[in-house]
Parts: sequence; structure tokens; C-alpha cells
Amino acid sequence: MNQSGIESSELERNLTILRKEEVRGGFRSDIKNLIKNSPHFLSKLVRHILDENFPDTLHQELIERCGIELREKYYRHRRNLDFRLTVLEAYDYKCAVCGFSAQSNGRYLALEAAHIKWHAFGGADSIDNGIALCSLHHKLFDFGAFGIHEGMIVYSEKIVGNQAFDIHCKSFHGKSIGVPNNYIHQPLKENIEWHSTEVFKYPARKIKASEG
Ligand SMILES: [Zn+2]
Repeated sequence: MNQSGIESSELERNLTILRKEEVRGGFRSDIKNLIKNSPHFLSKLVRHILDENFPDTLHQELIERCGIELREKYYRHRRNLDFRLTVLEAYDYKCAVCGFSAQSNGRYLALEAAHIKWHAFGGADSIDNGIALCSLHHKLFDFGAFGIHEGMIVYSEKIVGNQAFDIHCKSFHGKSIGVPNNYIHQPLKENIEWHSTEVFKYPARKIKASEG
């Protein structure tokens, strides 16, 4: 365990091996033809790959980053509504990072229930795999811009931004993450560890003595 809190993962080492061996992935030629000739097949394939591997918050960005043009409009799934409601209630309808909370006629806005271990990787729709986050922090959490280590918010060194980023994001580095009202609803350690190992973008920023 280094000073920054989160152990560097094996991922970097594995990536180095894959790059060195020039490992490539791709589709068979019959599948390639289908992709080329059937927009409907392409949509279904994209949906399947995204659902199986990434949380909803990253789907649109991945589609754009890969330069995929879908003729059919891409809709996000409406997942388990109970999960959202129970998680938000457990966290008192506040973002566990910044404390953001806003509502209109009793409907909470830009406040989401994030899966700590992604649904796509078998993460449960259970309260101990959930955390209430505002839309901004949900997206950054799913991207791995920050993780949780020993109850603290730890930002990645790989994420930089302007002054607004420092105010809304980096200023929470080293601070305690919000906890649910009831201790028994705390996130399971194994889910947090999964996020640290699989999602967080190493290396972590150092935590100064003045932070926290
Ligand atoms: Zn927030």
C-alpha cells in the first residue's frame, strides 16, 4: 500500500504484456459484413457490448468516442427503480461526495444511485452496492476519476481540469465520503475494492496531511 492509499493494480502490468505481444481483437468477416450492411444489427451489437461491460453513465460517451453512428436512437435502460429509491433514501437524498441535493415538486434532480460494482460485472441492485451521487460525481466515479479508500475520497492523478474542476471535484480529495444513515447499509468492502481494482485510474493523488 503506498502513501496515496490505493495499491497500483496488476492491470498496468497486463496492459504492458498485451501491447508488447501486439495482441489485437476483432470480428470475424461474416460479422463484419453484418455490421456494415445492417444498421439494426449494429445497434443491437453496440447495446449488447455496452450493457455487458459498462455502466449506463458511460454509454453515450463511448459511442461518440468510438465514432459509431447509430441510425436508431440510443435509449438508456430504465433499471431497477427500487434500487434508486432505497439508495437515495439511505443517503438522505444527498450526494455522498459534495452533499448536493435539489428537488422540484418532490422529485429529486440530478441525484442518482450509483452501482459501486458495475451491474455489467454482476454488481447487485442492493443497498450495500449502492451510493448516492449527483450526476457529475456519478459519471466521474464510473469513469474512475476518483475512488474510495478507507472511507476517503481519493482522486486520480490522471484527471486534471480547470478552476471549476478544482472547486467541484478536487477539493473533495482526501475528505470523508458520505455514509448512509444506518450503519448496516454501508457499502460492502468487497464492492469498494472491486471499484478500486477494476475502475479507478491509477495512480492516486497523494493525500497531504492538511487534507482529510
Ligand atoms: Zn456530488
